[in-house]
Amino acid sequence: MMLPRPTLKITEVFASVQGEGLRQGEPTIFVRFSGCNLRCAFCDTKYAWTGGKERTRDEVMAEVRGLRNDFPAAWVCLTGGEPLLQDISGLVRDLKKEGLQVQAETNGTVDRLLAVDWYTVSPKPPEYAVERRFLKTAREVKLVVSRGMSLAIVRGVRKEFPPGTPIFLQPESNRRPGAAKAMEILQQGLKEGLENIRVSVQLHKVLGIQ
Ligand code: SF4
Repeated sequence: MMLPRPTLKITEVFASVQGEGLRQGEPTIFVRFSGCNLRCAFCDTKYAWTGGKERTRDEVMAEVRGLRNDFPAAWVCLTGGEPLLQDISGLVRDLKKEGLQVQAETNGTVDRLLAVDWYTVSPKPPEYAVERRFLKTAREVKLVVSRGMSLAIVRGVRKEFPPGTPIFLQPESNRRPGAAKAMEILQQGLKEGLENIRVSVQLHKVLGIQ
């Protein structure tokens, strides 16, 4: 019988505010998992693709508790890389037991059931395909607006998710070309009646914080 790996591969654990999406600005402890199954050209966390340190759940919990002593955030965000590539269900249980709210940021390609409070799903090129589970469970959808983004892609993603789930058009690294494109897509989308799409920024990059 194969035993589950006793450790998780982690790039970093840190305290900050959530920079993206509906939870923007909220105090959050981040756990960044190492490894990703995709290789997006615009990825701003390439340093998490490889490497990372093996840590037990207890070690991660100790680190989260330590950070919360100075920064008592109510939320923990599990991010990456792609956090769902590893079996993080035990850690989610531990965090919930501690009374924390848990957000998971995923590209939506790994079908894993977790007892998290909040899924942020960010479909990625070239297919922008996500596992069915996330169509209903996503609280928000994030699309990075880089050169390859188009109204057709946004239209396709909008069709997949329920109209009540907001879609964020997030210009790549807050840059002007992405912002102009996001506004153009927003305008065209509005004209053809696409619901619940909005333009956003990465707050942490505006403020120059981690
Ligand atoms: S899915 Fe996310 S972490 Fe993975 S390569 Fe793409 S942007 Fe980077």
